[in-house]
Amino acid sequence: MSAQAKTNKLTDKVAIITGGGSGIGAATSRLFAKEGAKVVVTDIDEAAAEGVAKGLEQDGGQALAAKVDVTCKEEIDNTVRDVLARWGKIDILVNCAGTGDIGWFIESDETTWDRIIAVNLKGTMLFTHAVLPSMVEHKYGKIINIASIAGKTGAGMQVPYSASKAGVSGFTKALAREVARHRINVNDICPGPIDTPMYGQIGDLDPELQKKYVRGVAQRRMGRPEELAAAVLFLASDECEFITGHSLVVDGGSTMI
Ligand code: NAP
Repeated sequence: MSAQAKTNKLTDKVAIITGGGSGIGAATSRLFAKEGAKVVVTDIDEAAAEGVAKGLEQDGGQALAAKVDVTCKEEIDNTVRDVLARWGKIDILVNCAGTGDIGWFIESDETTWDRIIAVNLKGTMLFTHAVLPSMVEHKYGKIINIASIAGKTGAGMQVPYSASKAGVSGFTKALAREVARHRINVNDICPGPIDTPMYGQIGDLDPELQKKYVRGVAQRRMGRPEELAAAVLFLASDECEFITGHSLVVDGGSTMI
């Protein structure tokens, strides 16, 4: 039997990943580079983004790091301009940066709501808005937004977070309708509990709540960031040309939706 050469799924594609310095974003950056993409690792934590990008280059990939707070239009616009100057196009955007909080809604305040909506929902819209003109010009684009099952089913003690992620899924569907004519696919992924620093913070704040979430998973375990990255890769690849406006639930059987 002859050995078949593996074909990379993202050869020559240029991908920007927000929140790429940690967790799901870092795992996605690594998988994309392995699949031949030029990867722009962005994060509010500059050192984390640089660390991930350096690792990709050491493994033979092509990568750029950029400090980008997704609530800052100026930082987003500068990064998009730099990427276009360097690589001429942006094929893929993964909106992965996210934040949350644990607490009763009745005790929450406007500062918390504003922060969560600004990062999770407005940040997704700002970055998408910045890359779209180039995608429209090239008549190609894959946008993958990381939402959450919390936005589908609602998560108690995470009301602003759930609302922001439901907003991300609504944004995904509405935009998918608008840009399909330009051959741009917009999809989101709704993860269940995934073993990342963000999920670890829930355990620090409320260990019982974290255990409850895992008990709700049919597979009785947390997902690994690499398992999420595999789903992002599928939606970023040309295998999903006919899939748009979809919310892909990756939750080990938590919701069965
Ligand atoms: P993570 O390991 O904490 O990674 C999130 C990254 O986003 C961090 O590097 C974080 O930096 C960065 N970030 C936060 N605010 C930012 C901002 N304003 N601008 C740019 N970057 C910012 O968490 P993760 O679990 O991989 O989360 C990735 C995405 O998955 C998030 O959207 C999250 O809501 C979603 N998600 C996660 C789970 C889960 O169980 N882990 C479940 C459902 C959905 P700092 O660390 O410096 O804040």
